[in-house]
Amino acid sequence: MNKKMSINLQKCFDSLTCNAIDFLEKSVTELDNSPKYSVIHFCSAIELFFKARLLVEHWSLIFKKPENAQLSKFKAGDFNSVSMDEAINRLKNISGEKIENKAEQCFKIVRNHRNQLIHFFNEKYIVKPDNATLDEVIPEQYAAWFYLHSLLISKWQPIFKDYLEKIEKLNHLMQRHKKYLSAKHEEMKPAILNDKTNGIQYEKCYFCNFDAAKVDGSYDPLFSCTCRICNMRSNFLVIACPKCETDIKVEDLGLGECQKCGFVSDINFLLQELAPDEDPKEESLRAYCSNCEYSAEPTAIPFGDSYLCLNCLELLDEHGHCGYCNDLIAGSGYNLESSYCCGCVMCEGSLAQDRS
Ligand SMILES: [Zn+2]
Ligand SMILES: [Zn+2]
Ligand SMILES: [Zn+2]
Ligand SMILES: [Zn+2]
Repeated sequence: MNKKMSINLQKCFDSLTCNAIDFLEKSVTELDNSPKYSVIHFCSAIELFFKARLLVEHWSLIFKKPENAQLSKFKAGDFNSVSMDEAINRLKNISGEKIENKAEQCFKIVRNHRNQLIHFFNEKYIVKPDNATLDEVIPEQYAAWFYLHSLLISKWQPIFKDYLEKIEKLNHLMQRHKKYLSAKHEEMKPAILNDKTNGIQYEKCYFCNFDAAKVDGSYDPLFSCTCRICNMRSNFLVIACPKCETDIKVEDLGLGECQKCGFVSDINFLLQELAPDEDPKEESLRAYCSNCEYSAEPTAIPFGDSYLCLNCLELLDEHGHCGYCNDLIAGSGYNLESSYCCGCVMCEGSLAQDRS
């Protein structure tokens, strides 16, 4: 990246990233006494990380309207910049970034909360927060950081490599949120235990790891749960081990291990077990998933009225053929109409073709 960027762009990237880190640090310290500013600054930090990432793609992409972008305005900092929604869309559509639905939802919760506090005065948010307020802020920040941090240290690692040490320090700071969640878990243990004795099932939460994800939906073999600690929702599959018939829990990527005999499931095993039998002469019903964008093979299978992706375990309520490559695609909130121009999981669409 460094070689590709001219000196000024590198400076701009550094300044966006330093600002993002500064806002996030600020947000953590503000939580104790002024939750309103914690929410606002936390959201700014996320947006700044997105902008830094977009800048690496092209400087005009951090303009609200890239078509009106001018280098002189960019240098002077004189422009309206991209919103969080637009930034996420550009990362997905232009940079080909995979930002899964759950992550996008978490970022949008933070953004909505920020907007609410900016437009409507809420006195609970200007004083030392009570437990109910902390209970709103901490889980949403914890979840958004969970996703942002994993982007920063994995897919975006080459881009933010000079900042990894600082990012780890931030992660350490954010552990305060974890401590809060841990105290909340201690408090909730008796209620959870009581539920369990009444036959309500709890699982370990995929996000916060506490044994507090209440199973609240089942469409055999798919189960969904909501964590009573971090409020996150997640899905899992239960499938019988082919060797010893013990139940195996699968959370994502098809991965799960039999606790009795050690058999390990993978995506191929799940497809073999759960995908409909098909006549090779007929068109396949299996679709590519636009949520996780797994492209090695179609991982979404018909499931009730919708589709279920066996890789990311999301239920996908829409499906149809890509207008450009004709592959069958399933997704949620997925805009098939634009697929001819913008492409799908499997193709880049006509616009990319025109550019080349
Ligand atoms: Zn949780
Ligand atoms: Zn087994
Ligand atoms: Zn998927
Ligand atoms: Zn396509």
